Amino acid sequence: AVPSISRQKAVESIREQFTLDKPLLESLIARFQELYDYGLANHGAEMQMIPSFVTGVPTGSEKGTYLALDLGGTNLRVCEVALDGKGTFTIKQEKYKVSDQLKQGPARDLFDYMATSVDNFLTDFGTTSTEDVLHLGFTFSFPVEQTAIDRGHLIHWTKGFNCPDAPGKDVVQLLQDSLDRKHIKVKCSALVNDTVGALLAHAYASNGALISAIFGTGTNGAYLEDISKIKKLKTAQGSITHMVVNTEWGGFDDERKALPVTIFDNKVDRESIRPRNHIFEKMISGMYLGEVTRCVLLHLIDQLVLFQGFASKAFNTQYAFDTAFMSAIEADKEDAASPTSATRKVLVQTMGVKDEYVSKEDVETVRTICEIVGTRAARLSSVAIAATMVQTGNVQGNGANDDGVKVGMDGSVIEFYPRLDSAIKTIIQYSAFYITDLSNLTLRKQHSDERSVKSS
Ligand code: ADP
Repeated sequence: AVPSISRQKAVESIREQFTLDKPLLESLIARFQELYDYGLANHGAEMQMIPSFVTGVPTGSEKGTYLALDLGGTNLRVCEVALDGKGTFTIKQEKYKVSDQLKQGPARDLFDYMATSVDNFLTDFGTTSTEDVLHLGFTFSFPVEQTAIDRGHLIHWTKGFNCPDAPGKDVVQLLQDSLDRKHIKVKCSALVNDTVGALLAHAYASNGALISAIFGTGTNGAYLEDISKIKKLKTAQGSITHMVVNTEWGGFDDERKALPVTIFDNKVDRESIRPRNHIFEKMISGMYLGEVTRCVLLHLIDQLVLFQGFASKAFNTQYAFDTAFMSAIEADKEDAASPTSATRKVLVQTMGVKDEYVSKEDVETVRTICEIVGTRAARLSSVAIAATMVQTGNVQGNGANDDGVKVGMDGSVIEFYPRLDSAIKTIIQYSAFYITDLSNLTLRKQHSDERSVKSS
């Protein structure tokens, strides 16, 4: 079969659509500022800027044993954390699988399952005396309208969750009801978003992070904001000077005034559970990045550029190309002609394309496409972090009392994807036009264990 377009032209066309040049990055940062201000002043914004009711960050001297429950992505996690007051801690944790049926069925089934998981965890691992009521921090990584540290109503689901009767309800109450029904002696005392939790955990361990960024199933960020700038918070705040804000930056520019959305993003969005929502997240995060790549590769297959125009069952299956495959492909430095390269393994063994259809050039093209899609994700991630640094005013890093910017980063994508990891460098490269002196910038990846301390 003869391709309708040369390989080079086809790849260049993709590259063009995915390239973000400096003026565009600047306009994205400006748009971030605009939407940060809007979200801090108004309820119901697309990028919600949710006050967390957490009014400071830990110093590392905090002590005690607490339970943590984390819902928001691929697994449900239950942990018991003992903080030693020296910036370190010990932790026991267990993961529990959340089925698609639970993700999309009645809320009560989902929350009962969480309560049962806590019960199972305590039976298997609990150390604290059963006489005491245990305090549990609930990390719930979905948009919530929080009204107190232990009260928050779900605004809507994201990331493949869709229990239809949950939006509008207080998720702490739903969990407490399930715990009480099962006579489990646990009190849900705090509700935090995972991004807020990541910031607290990072601050506990490093004494001083003011920004956190998550790149996992979804993407989000939190930072410590001046209370006076959170204009929508009407209640008298007394002596409170600061509050952690959960930005929900996955919802950045859903109006698409600045984001350069491609037809591939539109397809991923259209076929997703919540179309026209969180397009920024769909261009960046683990749940969608592989899917964007799959759509681009399919387009090249349809142009008869790749695999002589043959696909496979997996290539035709939504979400079958995991973001983790991009990591494997980008890490693969073997000769493209090698019959044992990691890229060929992904294409042939995992994705089921016939070996004889995969040429050396195809291997190279697939690597290039992963690089193009991954680079855009890295640059967009950098924009979010850079914009947050500008927002906190902590951008110069050269003031007398300024000990720099510490950003806590968390999530499998930042942890394992070399391209996103290189975002650390990209951030420096692409934010340089705003941030004059980066000598004090610390970007600290959260160790996996630390991630679980976040709701304590
Ligand atoms: P969550 O955000 O759900 O708490 P994670 O931080 O583990 O969980 O993120 C899960 C996401 O990370 C999945 O979408 C998965 O595709 C992606 N992921 C897992 N492993 C890798 C990897 N090696 N490289 C890139 N992405 C990965």
